[in-house]
Amino acid sequence: MNLDFPKIEEKILNFWKKNKIFEKLRKKNQGKTRWSFLDGPITANNPMGVHHAWGRTYKDLFQRYKALQGFDQRFQNGFDCQGLWVEVEVEKELGFKTKKDIEKYGIAKFVEKCKERVRKYSKIQTEQSIRLGQWMDWKNSYYTLSNENNYTIWHFLKKCWKERLLYKGRDVVPWCPRCGTAISQHEILTEEYKEVWHKAIFVKLPLIGKKNTFFLIWTTTPWTLPGNVALAINPRFQYAKIKDKNGDIFILLKNKAQLIPNGEIIETIKGKNLKKLKYHGPFDELPAVKKTLKKYRHSIIFWKDVSLEEGTGIVHIAPAFGQEDFQLSKKFKLPVINLTDDESRYRKDSGILTKKLVTEVNEIIFENLKKKGLIFKIEDYLHRYPTCWRCKSELIFRLVDEWYISMVKLRKPLMVVAKKIKWIPSFGLERELDWLKNMQDWLISKKRYWGLALPIFECSCGYFEVIGSKEELKERAIEGWEEFKNHSPHRPWVDKVKIKCLKCGKKISRIPDVGNPWLDAGIVPFSTMGYFSDRDFWQKWFPAEFICESFPGQFKNWFYSLIVMSAVLENTNPIKTIFGYALVRDEKGEEMHKSKRNVIWFDQAVKIIGADPMRWMYLRQNPVYNLNFGWKGGEETKRKLLTLWNSFLFFKTYVDKKEFPSKLVFPKTKNLLDLWIISRLNNLIEKVTRNLDRYNVATVSSNIEKFFTDDLSLWYIRRSRRRFHPALEQSSVRGKKTKRLTEEGTKRREAVETLYYVLLNLMKLISPMMPFLAEEIYQNLKTPKQSLRDATGQVKKMPQSIHLFDWPKSDKKLINQDLEEKMKKIREIVALALAERTKFKIKVRQPLLKLKIKNLKLKINKELLDLIKEEINVKKIVFDKKIKKEIELDTKITQALKEEGMVRELVRNIQEMRKKSGLTPKDKIIIGFSGSEKYKNLIKKWKNYIKKETLSRDIKFEIKEKIRFSLEKEITFDEEKVLIAIKKI
Ligand SMILES: [Zn+2]
Ligand SMILES: [Zn+2]
Repeated sequence: MNLDFPKIEEKILNFWKKNKIFEKLRKKNQGKTRWSFLDGPITANNPMGVHHAWGRTYKDLFQRYKALQGFDQRFQNGFDCQGLWVEVEVEKELGFKTKKDIEKYGIAKFVEKCKERVRKYSKIQTEQSIRLGQWMDWKNSYYTLSNENNYTIWHFLKKCWKERLLYKGRDVVPWCPRCGTAISQHEILTEEYKEVWHKAIFVKLPLIGKKNTFFLIWTTTPWTLPGNVALAINPRFQYAKIKDKNGDIFILLKNKAQLIPNGEIIETIKGKNLKKLKYHGPFDELPAVKKTLKKYRHSIIFWKDVSLEEGTGIVHIAPAFGQEDFQLSKKFKLPVINLTDDESRYRKDSGILTKKLVTEVNEIIFENLKKKGLIFKIEDYLHRYPTCWRCKSELIFRLVDEWYISMVKLRKPLMVVAKKIKWIPSFGLERELDWLKNMQDWLISKKRYWGLALPIFECSCGYFEVIGSKEELKERAIEGWEEFKNHSPHRPWVDKVKIKCLKCGKKISRIPDVGNPWLDAGIVPFSTMGYFSDRDFWQKWFPAEFICESFPGQFKNWFYSLIVMSAVLENTNPIKTIFGYALVRDEKGEEMHKSKRNVIWFDQAVKIIGADPMRWMYLRQNPVYNLNFGWKGGEETKRKLLTLWNSFLFFKTYVDKKEFPSKLVFPKTKNLLDLWIISRLNNLIEKVTRNLDRYNVATVSSNIEKFFTDDLSLWYIRRSRRRFHPALEQSSVRGKKTKRLTEEGTKRREAVETLYYVLLNLMKLISPMMPFLAEEIYQNLKTPKQSLRDATGQVKKMPQSIHLFDWPKSDKKLINQDLEEKMKKIREIVALALAERTKFKIKVRQPLLKLKIKNLKLKINKELLDLIKEEINVKKIVFDKKIKKEIELDTKITQALKEEGMVRELVRNIQEMRKKSGLTPKDKIIIGFSGSEKYKNLIKKWKNYIKKETLSRDIKFEIKEKIRFSLEKEITFDEEKVLIAIKKI
């Protein structure tokens, strides 16, 4: 049986489906104590990536674990459906460049396309998740585009409005020229900053009334120059007037004097003394600027944030183009020249720039300034610059009216709510609090098409109100209800509905904006649990016990919106525990990017690595750190899992089904090795349970892995091999006449029962982590006739699936700390002795006379000492206080030992030949031998031993044609060649 994960997994998926195993599991737990998991919605916009599979593995693990413990769960998956991310993909699909293209195409059709895309990818993601082994009530997934979700947000916004938290604000915000919308503060993560080259320009601004004298300024955003109204200066800095060889005089920071070639400092001036100077702006001829200049002169302001590092120490201020500039304009009562429209083009009164895109005017501006003689220097400049999280366009900053939720009053309650939540890893709380402390008001509007229709109705008289439900909208509608009523609350249909202004009686419309998509995800603890439709149900499931999401982005996004919405609606925490994990990177630790060609898609990974090895990779990772995912890691993981598989295979190969315990009672054994592995297993069960309860996944998986490699495979099975020898098989089955087993039979029986017990319980432990492998092995451990006693003492048939067992309980009585201690000591001694053998280059197959052990503080009985003897192949063990080291291995090889070594070498060769010929361990053979008299005699002397070990009927001392041996091999002893051959009989 090869370990072909993808093949096994496909088979198991069919088995689960055909036998409705998941449905049976849910039925088993129905009505029992609840455990409330809340799924963070996955954006249904593309096929799943390997990073999604990481989170989904955790989600599946905990829901399966709780199900095995008998908890009733909702198993609801969520899809995130609305927002710019979907729009951008649909625009790409349709080949659209700007918002105009969408309007030409028709908003209704465009929105339908967005819905279509979501339907398509939610289906694909469902299939992919099923392939990963995730168990969910897929037919009952929630979609954030649902009426329920949207109307619940309306209710939330209405409450914000009533509490005077909602307002329309004018501010300079990051703006994506392509998407034509504001980008809110929390959407700009550090990874959205890119290193880009821009043109930096030094501009000369002439002083009014002083010939040939200029302020020298510097900017990396030339398109903001037309908006200039002031220059900021640090009053504490030293500035200077510097004369160049043409007689022009420049004012700039004294210690930047070297910027002027051959410049001569003619005067030093303290910043505060520059206050009264006035200057000509760079674009005073533009109509919009001219208008402003009727009542204003460009002037100097003082600002302590002007720094010595970059530029000239004189900062160009354009209030409509920069967040700080805008703040300064309020403080100094500066005029604001707002030159751009929603398409990021200059407005009509912008002269030569009118209707031009701000991102495309650099050349025009340079040309114009050159003509005016205002350019001092242009250079290339590399800096970090924010980009759009969706389309990667470089953002600009512009002054716009947007809708906000004020955080002034909420800030404290939000912090209280955040503190009620248990954060894993624990630094999560600090990060969240840090964000809550420093965040600005929440910008919730977007000038887009596909998303939550903000239910804000605004009148030209200044009044605005928020509608809180569909019913309320119907009641208030004075127009358009009929057209809208059978549609979802989306654009353009909802826009048809008009209501009457409660202040002035005018007919008013909804603002055209849609909502920030984090509103959609933040509301799900209410919308998906029947906050309106079934309050009893909601009360049973709220707050959720557990959510699990990749943390780097979510402190400012989902975690944040969850906290805000729950604080406003119920003034409490919507979840008890937030489990966060880091990011998936490629094998070298670099970000996966289509352009870098290092992206691994989920479908590809699952086909090559398999779902269970992937899951194991995820679960072995410490979630605090980024996971470097790649093919090498996949291979390594598979190799580790092969150890587990081989342990099972060992059992399957050497134990016949008729030997399987018929009742799953606890193994009756007195063998110390058995008792030891049973103790280790129960210890493991206890540790795994305790750590899963605390969500310490990486500890759990590393403990399990250590158990199946180190304890089970490397020690228990190795040291138990002899008891599984095929020659003993018959002796362990109770015949009708002989009910009593022989001594050898009993030994084998104990080993069989023990290994069966260990494998079965180990499969229960790994079943929520590697559900396929556990099922595959279990199906091989199960026979139709077996029964088991359940917790209540009832005898039942073995469950159809490993996933229908109860979670195993650790039995304290079976944990034998003393024995574990001793075994540890023994394994230490063995390791030392084997190291000695390596040092002297003596193979383990070569028996040695004795091992001296210095002194053991533990009392170790014969049975355990025999383990050492067998493992390191010595005839006896002697305790000797006088030796210097902890052990001393007698490396003298006598003639008798040498002979025995040769015989063992021979046996090993025959075993290899058996394997090579594809024989099972139970097949019987005849051995042929040809060599000198000396070796013939040796074989004769050990004939019985060899026959037993190799399961052979006979040894022939000639290799003749007529016997037709199937395989021959030559081996060399002491430079003499002998020939061996085998044949199956
Ligand atoms: Zn964009
Ligand atoms: Zn009005």
